Amino acid sequence: MAASRVYADCREFPSGKPCSLYISGTEDEVLETEVLHAVKTHGEKDTPDLRQKLRSIIKEERAGASAHV
Ligand SMILES: [Zn+2]
Repeated sequence: MAASRVYADCREFPSGKPCSLYISGTEDEVLETEVLHAVKTHGEKDTPDLRQKLRSIIKEERAGASAHV
């Protein structure tokens, strides 16, 4: 069984700059990508506080939601 995926929708990240990025993957992948994105695009600093904020917008992907066989 594949690792369960989660997603983060950057529209829910309170940064002031409108952004529609959508990241999906394992929790570690999503968090790492969000951090890189927030630093590069939103001018944030990679701090425990930022990671806490990013972690709070990560949500479980609904099982079967994308299963069109
Ligand atoms: Zn963004």
